Amino acid sequence: MTPIRRQYLKIKHSFPDAIVLFRMGDFYETFDEDARVASKELEITLTARSMGKNVKVPMAGFPAHAVESYLAKLVKRGHKVAICEQLSVPDSSKGLVERDVVRVVTPGTVLESALLDQKVNNYLAAVVLEGDSAGFAYADVTTGEFAAAQLDRSQLPLELERISPAEVLSSDIDSSDSEEGFPSHKGQSPTEVDYTYFDLETAQQALLDHYGILSLESFGCEHLPLAVRAAGAIVLYLRDTRRTGKLHLMNLGVYSTSGFMDLDVHTRRNLELFTAGRNERREHSLLATLDQTRTPMGGRLLRRWLGQPLLDLEELERRLDAVSYFFNDAFLRAGAGSSLSRVPDLERILGRIKAGVVAPRELIALKAGLDAVPELLEQLSAPMPPPSSPRRRGTKPPVVDSRLRGNDGLGDGNDGLGHGNDGLDGGSDGLDGNDLLDVGQDMAWLRQQLTPLPEICGLIEQSIAPEPVGNPGEGNVIRQGFSPELDALKYDSQNARSFIAGLEQTERERTGLRGLKIGYNQVFGYYIEVSKSNQAQVPDNYIRRQTLVNSERYITPEIKEYESLVLNAREQIEEMERSLFRQVCEQVSETGDTISRLAKAVAMVDVFVSLAEVAAANGYVRPQLDLNRTISIKNGRHPALERLLDRGTYVPNDVYLSNDDARIILLTGPNMAGKSTFIRQAAIIVLMAQVGSYVPASEAIVGLVDRIFTRVGLQDDLTTGQSTFMVEMVETAAILNQATPRSLVVLDEIGRGTSTYDGLSIARSVIEHLHNDERLGCKTLFATHYHELTELAGTLPGVRNFTVAVTEEDGDVVFLHRIVPGGADKSYGVHVARLAGLPQGVVNRAWEVLADLEDTHNSKRKAGGRRSRKAADLQMPLFDPARAVADEVKALDIPNLTPLEAINCLYELQRKARELTGSS
Ligand code: ADP
Ligand code: MG
Repeated sequence: MTPIRRQYLKIKHSFPDAIVLFRMGDFYETFDEDARVASKELEITLTARSMGKNVKVPMAGFPAHAVESYLAKLVKRGHKVAICEQLSVPDSSKGLVERDVVRVVTPGTVLESALLDQKVNNYLAAVVLEGDSAGFAYADVTTGEFAAAQLDRSQLPLELERISPAEVLSSDIDSSDSEEGFPSHKGQSPTEVDYTYFDLETAQQALLDHYGILSLESFGCEHLPLAVRAAGAIVLYLRDTRRTGKLHLMNLGVYSTSGFMDLDVHTRRNLELFTAGRNERREHSLLATLDQTRTPMGGRLLRRWLGQPLLDLEELERRLDAVSYFFNDAFLRAGAGSSLSRVPDLERILGRIKAGVVAPRELIALKAGLDAVPELLEQLSAPMPPPSSPRRRGTKPPVVDSRLRGNDGLGDGNDGLGHGNDGLDGGSDGLDGNDLLDVGQDMAWLRQQLTPLPEICGLIEQSIAPEPVGNPGEGNVIRQGFSPELDALKYDSQNARSFIAGLEQTERERTGLRGLKIGYNQVFGYYIEVSKSNQAQVPDNYIRRQTLVNSERYITPEIKEYESLVLNAREQIEEMERSLFRQVCEQVSETGDTISRLAKAVAMVDVFVSLAEVAAANGYVRPQLDLNRTISIKNGRHPALERLLDRGTYVPNDVYLSNDDARIILLTGPNMAGKSTFIRQAAIIVLMAQVGSYVPASEAIVGLVDRIFTRVGLQDDLTTGQSTFMVEMVETAAILNQATPRSLVVLDEIGRGTSTYDGLSIARSVIEHLHNDERLGCKTLFATHYHELTELAGTLPGVRNFTVAVTEEDGDVVFLHRIVPGGADKSYGVHVARLAGLPQGVVNRAWEVLADLEDTHNSKRKAGGRRSRKAADLQMPLFDPARAVADEVKALDIPNLTPLEAINCLYELQRKARELTGSS
């Protein structure tokens, strides 16, 4: 076995579960089984290399400069990759080059930008379970974000869904305890780590060591052992994977989920927050609609905010004020937009600086970003013109009757509030003046976080070449004038080089040998080459080094002297430039906390400007938030759908929901009328308002909601393998168990996944339960094509019937998409079938069948007085008993009945028939 093979095996032994990329010169090589996997995954050639006597091992490799894209492929396929570098300079006299693994790359620990989606955080999460509680922590090593929480176990799936980590750590004990059901995330299995990582003391110590502190008190987690254990496991795991460079983790943020609206998977999907449609495309999602952010941090923040709407009125007003600030001034908005577009991904650049993998041009980008800060500060200090649309600040007085206010009292109520606040001024002029002042103060909180860093800008400006080429060490990164020493070295090296370059000419002239050449090779360095035929004229001071077929190669003491000058200088330049670059990085990294804070503030400004821009372009209004239990929307629109339609063709609609009276909207109407769109749009507007965005409506009053539940019937849930109907019911049950009077429930075609009678019955009893259960009392939007359900409004006072207006023109149905009070009388299914292009013959036949059915149904109705008592108890013709008997007969499996069973069946059928006709 060769020494290098021995070295490899020793290293591989420590990383049995990772693919080891073994650096050999300009290549990364993989061996043995790793080579087989790599060649398959990366589509690179599998060769063999001799590694000793009769030892031939499989090998596959790729050039070192292409490592990012190859690494990306391996990690995306779920492999763990250990990068093994050469740690000493190759020197044949010293034997084998030192090598060791410097980083282990896993999906949750990548830093390479080729692997990262700019506008999505790349999270590593850790989970620890204990009884009904769970510890949850997550970190993004590219941005330094780090947070932990202690939760109810039932909350864990929601948090996993929200964070959507690229990798989840769990202790090998927790994940083997499958009975308890470790929540798997997107079918991804957790990375099992040694359970000692989650040990409280070990974890605590890891955190203390990492931050160099003595107590966790300042993080507010000393009383949250599960949060500490999860957070500690993350630090330990990162320490394992990052063997050089510093860990870039900001202060641990301990959070609780109580300040946020819970959004489950279904709601995210049904409201199409991040992806839309069956193909889960991003471009028609709510995020895509609202995202005009210019920086990656802003993009990530907006995504986070959308996934985590707030319950805190004050914080929401603060966000809305900031959006208003940019909404009301297009000029300011444009200015801020252009400043923001010069800011690079500050968070990730900082992360790469700390990890020691930053590229010189990223420092230049960082500087450009920091340069934009003073402009942003100025843009945040502008006095604001009086608002054109009614704005409201603070909370509403709770005494106002919400219904009245919704209808007409809004303007007055608003003015009244203003006067109340600054009664001294009186009049509306005074109110405007007051607003002007207020707004200046409003933005102060943001300005405070935008610390300009002129020293860092100056440092980068002076030290790094404006357009750095290559890596530090090659001489083109540190700016001329920054280090006189480096400049002198470069000068000397340049001189020596040009001396050697000129040598060919001078030696030709001196010796008269026209064919004399200067060359360079690895073995002899610089040499002079003279052809064999001219040997006689070679001067005495030439020293022969090598004989070739047609020529001889010589050196001279002089040439060797310059050569060593060049080589020494190169080595020194390399060392010095690297060390200077490192020093600059270190200095930048010292202001890391400030840069982090700055990056956060820039992200916020970016989001505010983006929301304001979208609001201005699409005619959104500022929602009026309060703690009342009413939702009233005038002329609401679906933000994503309206963009897909021609301008002005989207039909706006009103919604009024209140815990006091109209608690349940029962929307009936034919297919394709716009029911789903309407109920989703209401939920989306509420959600947008609680993110702090303007909303697509002419007016929106939103009493804050603690949770939005949505369930859409009849969706194929192929992933889980459960029957659609079962899934539908399980989720409906979850809603009925968890909703509170502050919740908004959106149910779309519940019960559609089963037979008509079952579906109708379930839909009805769900509505009754939502209406009658004291504990629930939530607001509900219920869309259904079962128009029979409209009868419910007669008995349940909180239910309001609505339907979608439809007109018929020459037998063609036209959907107006307008929601009006009342119930649907027909389902227009055949009309829709016709519109969909079903052959005319089929449509005509359908009309015939329909007419038949309706006739039968009507005559049955007339005979309704004779229905059995049992059926009458249902209060509505949910159940057609004659039809049921007929169905039963149809379903009989006659060939397989025993004679006795057949007789019993007959008796039973006869009994039913008698009951039906009322005779005995
Ligand atoms: P339903 O749930 O009643 O079957 P949808 O809500 O799915 O109907 O709407 C069907 C289609 O009607 C939508 O894809 C959209 O193109 C159109 N639509 C719905 N509501 C509106 C509206 N308010 N304005 C314009 N078009 C609408
Ligand atoms: Mg629908």
